[in-house]
Amino acid sequence: MKTDFNINNLIRENIKSLKPYSSARDEYKDATSKEMIFLDANENPFENGVNRYPDPHQNDVKELLSDIKGISKENILLGNGSDEVLDLIFRAFCEPNVDNIITLPPTYGMYSVLADVNAIENRKVLLNQEFEPDVDAILEKVDANSKLLFLCSPNNPTGNSFSVNAVEQLLNKFNGLVVLDEAYIDFSEQKSWLEKLDKFPNLIITQTLSKAYGLAGIRLGTCYASKEIVQVLKNIKPPYNVNELTQQRAAVRLQKMDEIQNEVAQLISERKRLKKELECCVSYIEKIYPSDGNFLLLKVDDATKRYNQLIEYGVVIRNRTNQPLCENCLRISVGICEENQRLIRALKAIQ
Ligand SMILES: *Cc1c(COP(=O)(O)O)cnc(C)c1O
Repeated sequence: MKTDFNINNLIRENIKSLKPYSSARDEYKDATSKEMIFLDANENPFENGVNRYPDPHQNDVKELLSDIKGISKENILLGNGSDEVLDLIFRAFCEPNVDNIITLPPTYGMYSVLADVNAIENRKVLLNQEFEPDVDAILEKVDANSKLLFLCSPNNPTGNSFSVNAVEQLLNKFNGLVVLDEAYIDFSEQKSWLEKLDKFPNLIITQTLSKAYGLAGIRLGTCYASKEIVQVLKNIKPPYNVNELTQQRAAVRLQKMDEIQNEVAQLISERKRLKKELECCVSYIEKIYPSDGNFLLLKVDDATKRYNQLIEYGVVIRNRTNQPLCENCLRISVGICEENQRLIRALKAIQ
C-alpha cells in the first residue's frame, strides 16, 4: 500500500490548466436514441459504415475489457497502440528539457525514442546479470525530476518476468510514476499487477491487443491506472484516437476469449517444444534464456553470421547483439507449428 502520493505534484502545469477539446459527440451523449438526427459534426450523411466519427470514449470496447479484466471503465484508457499511450504519459508528466525518466536496458526500444521525441533525459540503469532490476542502482539515479520509471515485465527482449519483490520495492520507494509494460503478460505464468492497482496510486499498467490478442494490425493499446491518471490522459488525447474499424474489430475479437486463450496455449506449448528441440540439437546455441513471452532469446557463437545464414533460408528473426548484455543474442518469435519446424530445419542445416 502506498500512501502520501499526490498525482497533482507530477502533472505538468500546462496540462493541469488546459481545457480539453470537446467533440461534437461529447456535447450530445445519448447517440443511441432512435429519433435523433445528427447534424452536428459536418460528416457526410450518406451511410457507408464509417461515415460517422467513432465513439471518442470507446464505450463498447471498454465495457468488454472491463468484464475481461475485472476493472472499472474509469480506470481504462485506450490508444492507437501502446505507443500512443506511452507518448501521452510522457506529455502529461514530463517537462521537456527539465524532467527525466529511468529505463532498464536491454528493453523495449520505444521508451528511449519517446524520451528523445519529447526532449526528456533517459537515465539508463542496466538490468543485472539475471536480467532483474537493480533496485539500489535505480534509486541512486533518481532525483526530484525523475517522473517515470519504465518496467517491462515480461521484458522484451530478455523474456523474463521481473521478481515481484523488486517491482514492489520500486513501487514503494519511487515517488514518480511506475509504468509497467505488460505487453506479454498473457504468455506468462506470473500474475498481472492489475489486481494490485488499488494499492499503488503511482502504478500505470500498459497492455496491448498486438501480441496475445492477435490484432497488431488494428493498433489498439490499453492502459490501466487510477481514475485521476486516466482522466489526465483522456484530457490530452486526440478525441478520435481509436478509429471506428479498430473499435469494431476489437469488440468482435474480445467476445471470443476462448479462441484467444486457445491460441495463447498453443504458442506457449510451441515455445516449450522449440526450446527443447534447440537445446538438444543445435551445437552453436550456447544458451536459451527462460521466456515468459511468445519469443525466445538465444545466445549463439556468432549472432550476425547466424542471422545472415537464416535469411538465406528465408527465415527472418531479430539480431539483438548490439543491445547491452545481449552480445551474440538472437530473438526468435514463436510461430505456428509449421513455421517453427522450418526454423528448426534451417538452424540445423547451418551447423
Ligand atoms: C510489442 C510491444 C508493445 C506493443 O506495442 P503496440 O504499439 O501496442 O503494438 C509494447 N511493449 C512492448 C515491450 C512490446 O514488445
